[in-house]
Amino acid sequence: MTITPDRRSFLFGALIAPLLPDSLAIATGAEVRQARPILDLHVHLFGVGDGGTGCRMAKSITDGLSAQALQFRGLVQALRLREEGKSIDERYEIVLTEQLKGSGLSKAAILGQDAVYDRHGQPDWERTSFYVPNDHVFNVVARHADIMIPCPSINPNRADALEELARCHEKGARLFKIHPPTQGVDVADRKHAKFFQRCADLDMVILVHTGHEHSAPVIDKDLAGPRRLEFALDQGCTVVACHAGTGWKTDTPDQLPEFLALLKRYPKLWGDTAVLGTAGRVRDFTRLLAHPLARSRLLHGSDFPFPVAPLAFAAQIGDEAAQRIGKEMNWLKKDLDLKEALAIGVVSAERAYAIAKVDRIGGRGPDCESPVITPESSRRWPLRRRPRR
Ligand SMILES: [Zn+2]
Repeated sequence: MTITPDRRSFLFGALIAPLLPDSLAIATGAEVRQARPILDLHVHLFGVGDGGTGCRMAKSITDGLSAQALQFRGLVQALRLREEGKSIDERYEIVLTEQLKGSGLSKAAILGQDAVYDRHGQPDWERTSFYVPNDHVFNVVARHADIMIPCPSINPNRADALEELARCHEKGARLFKIHPPTQGVDVADRKHAKFFQRCADLDMVILVHTGHEHSAPVIDKDLAGPRRLEFALDQGCTVVACHAGTGWKTDTPDQLPEFLALLKRYPKLWGDTAVLGTAGRVRDFTRLLAHPLARSRLLHGSDFPFPVAPLAFAAQIGDEAAQRIGKEMNWLKKDLDLKEALAIGVVSAERAYAIAKVDRIGGRGPDCESPVITPESSRRWPLRRRPRR
C-alpha cells in the first residue's frame, strides 16, 4: 500500500492519539473572545447514524482496507469516539464541542452533507457515500449556539431544493454547502439558474468544494473544477471555493490556476484554507500565499476532523515552530496556529467571521453589521506565548 502525503499527516495525527488527555481541550479561549471575533468556516459534522441522528456512512468508508476506511478507523480511535454507553455520533458531538471550546476560536461553521440525487430529484442512497442531514446540523448547533453556526448542505439536484433553501434560511442559516464531486452536482448546469438566483436574493453564502478530494469516494473529479463556479457568480452569489481549487502534486489536472483566474473577475469569490495544512497541500498552499490577490481572499477553515501536519511546513515556518505547533493537542488550535505561523491564520479567521455574517444569524437585523475587515488587517494570534525564532 502506498502512503500518500495526506495519509502521512493522518498517521502523524494517529500516532499522537495515545498522548491525548481525557479532555482534548487544553487552551482557554476566554482571552480571544474579548478581541475581534474569529471563525473557522469549515468544520465537519459526521455520524454513522447509531444514535438516531439520521447520518449515514457507506461501508466503503467504514469497513475494509482502503485508505479511506483506514483513515476513518484511525480518526475514531484518535478522537476516542468509541465509549461505552455512548453512540459514536453522540461522542463526536462531545469531542467537537470540547475541541472548539479549547481552540480560541469565537465560533465554527458546522457543515452538513446532502445526498446524491437521481434524475427525478430523489435521494440515491446507493451512490451516497456519507450523509449528514440538515436537521442534525441544526439540532447540534442549537445545543451549542454560543460557539457554532449552522452550514447545512443543499444539493441543487434535489426536487425540493428551493423549499429546502427557504427552510434552512428560515431556520437561521446564512451559508450552505455543495460538494459537487461526491454529490454528483454540476454547478455550471443552467438548470440551476433559479436556485442560484434565489441564493443571491436571500444573500446566502455558498460553500462549494473545489480541487481534488481524497477523503471520500468521488463520482467525477471534473465537477470540482473552479471554473464551474462562474455560473453561480454570474447570478450574483457570494461563493466560497472550499480548498481554493488545490490538490496534491500528483493530482491532475492542476485546478488551482482556474481559481486564481476567477478571483480577478469576481470580487464575491473567496477561497477557504480547509485541509491546506496537510502534507500533501504544501505546494499549493505556498502558491496561494505567494499570490497577493488570493492571499487577500482566503477565509480560515480547518476541515476538522482531518488533522494538519505542521512538520511538513518546517521549511516555511522553521523547525522550532513546526515542532512546537506539532505538539499542540487541540486539533483546531493546532490548525489555526500553523496558519498563523504562515501569517494567514487570524486575519483570515476574522475575515471568515465577517463574510459568514455571523452577527446576523438568528434573525438579527441587517443593522447588526459584522466588523469591517480589510485584507491588510492583521494581528498577532492572541494565544501565542512563545515568540517564534
Ligand atoms: Zn471538508
